[in-house]
Amino acid sequence: MIACVVGTRPEVVKMAPIIAALRRRNLPHCVIATGQHHDWSMMGSFLTGFGITVDHQLVLTDRSLLGSFVEITAGLGALFAAEPPKLVLAVGDTTTVVAAAFAARKTGSAFGHVEAGLRAFSRELPEEEHRICADALADLLFAPTSFAVANLTREHVNGRVILTGNTVLDALREHRPAVATERHGVLVTIHRQETVDDPQALASVIAQIDRLGRDHDVVWPLHLRTRAKAQEAQLTLPRHATITEPLGHVEFLARLANARLVVTDSGGVQEEAAILGTPCVTVRAHTERVETLEAGVGLLALPGEIYEVASRIFADWAAFARPLPELYGDGRAGEKIAHACDEWLSRSILRELVA
Ligand code: UDP
Repeated sequence: MIACVVGTRPEVVKMAPIIAALRRRNLPHCVIATGQHHDWSMMGSFLTGFGITVDHQLVLTDRSLLGSFVEITAGLGALFAAEPPKLVLAVGDTTTVVAAAFAARKTGSAFGHVEAGLRAFSRELPEEEHRICADALADLLFAPTSFAVANLTREHVNGRVILTGNTVLDALREHRPAVATERHGVLVTIHRQETVDDPQALASVIAQIDRLGRDHDVVWPLHLRTRAKAQEAQLTLPRHATITEPLGHVEFLARLANARLVVTDSGGVQEEAAILGTPCVTVRAHTERVETLEAGVGLLALPGEIYEVASRIFADWAAFARPLPELYGDGRAGEKIAHACDEWLSRSILRELVA
């Protein structure tokens, strides 16, 4: 049995192609949702959109960083102890991923980390710690790019590293958006802790988005965390932008494919923007999606620099607006991961027989 663990919307998007490939190969698997994202707009609509049925649902009572880590680790540990999976898979860099890695290894299951090897080279980011821990514990490391492979090689990880491409491309092809001939407007997503938990940084983002909204049609589907943090800090959302609830994946991709620019601190959105040829202002001091910067389709901006960096992109728009799906493989990453799991399980059964 392979246990596929998901906690947040991007994990559903990126796990979906793997689940589909496991299904095609008739490999026994189950899906566990950890409850990190739990409402319809951030989780339910994504599971339904990809036709995924959850076999086990954890319910969290403590949503603090430490509390959720402890609860998810204990909840997964109990499930794995009751019915030990041979292999546990998790994707990305959230609390769910690092908890899944520990729970798997502490109960005798192997762990496979999807999207292994990403590094922003900034230890202040909780995501970076999660990635490093998950990669250190993993038996199988599915690296999406050659940059990720190089990072893992440098760290001498113990597990087996396999270059697969990123399942974000497979998922995007499943939800392929129509692209209009004329692109229009700016799409915004902001949710990372280092930005929205800092009232000054969030105020700065809001002011910059408002300024952009005076020149362009700006749509900002607001992450639930961002809405809560803005309320907590008593910040008024930009008047010159259309604020919406989080969008479903199909609608979000359609907007991204037809925008002239995206302003985001999201990992997955940086990748989808590069695939679709939507120039990207990445609101971060560092990014682990270095391939987008190397390829010249995105620029970093600190919160106070968003308007200026966006203006630089608009001034040379065609140079940034290049669709580069090949950055993330050939759209068959899910299939490659399922194949590697299949092979690994067959070998482990052989090892057990010989022992
Ligand atoms: N997304 C979406 N609706 C939205 C915002 C984002 O469907 O309103 C999708 C987006 O297409 C991408 C994923 O959510 O696939 C990115 O998730 P998020 O930004 O929450 O997390 P990250 O990728 O930074 O971990």
